[in-house]
Amino acid sequence: MPSPIGHTLAGLAVGWLSEVAPPATGSRLRDSLTPLVLWCAFVAAIPDADLLIPHIHRTATHSVTATVLLLIMVVAVTGKVTRHPAWTLALTLGAAHGTHLLLDWLGTDHFPPPGLQMLWPFSPHFFHSGVDLFPPVERRLLRPEALSVNAYAAAWELLIMGPVALVAWRRRRRGASAMPAQAKGQSR
Ligand SMILES: [Zn+2]
Repeated sequence: MPSPIGHTLAGLAVGWLSEVAPPATGSRLRDSLTPLVLWCAFVAAIPDADLLIPHIHRTATHSVTATVLLLIMVVAVTGKVTRHPAWTLALTLGAAHGTHLLLDWLGTDHFPPPGLQMLWPFSPHFFHSGVDLFPPVERRLLRPEALSVNAYAAAWELLIMGPVALVAWRRRRRGASAMPAQAKGQSR
């Protein structure tokens, strides 16, 4: 299953693809790291925080249930605070979370049972594609092979997800460049 590198790149891609109106702050990479994009990267990577709690990895936080709960939570909170539920924001963050499930489902998993409990808590079944698109990550960092295994995994993740994020970023950048100068001035 991918490391935070692959998951973060997937989240960044979702954020860049979802921004309807590009901010007028410029077209540099730094300018494109808006709060929404950073939130997407965070949501895409955070499910693996369950590694900190023994025996729950790849269960609750790796389920469609978690995606739906996140969506409901964002709609409820924004609806309460602003009286206008932010459905687009909720769907964007839901999509970012969904990329974590997708990438893990496509990744290599040598730990039985392989895969993730996507339908937690309604089904104990672990889902795994068997495609092994992403190489395994060695999370036991004290093992002698950890550095080489993780460097190899990171290289593959950059190779696969890097272009996806780059295409999303360039699409957003083109949008920013295409903005009329007047509109840019107004939104400053
Ligand atoms: Zn995961």
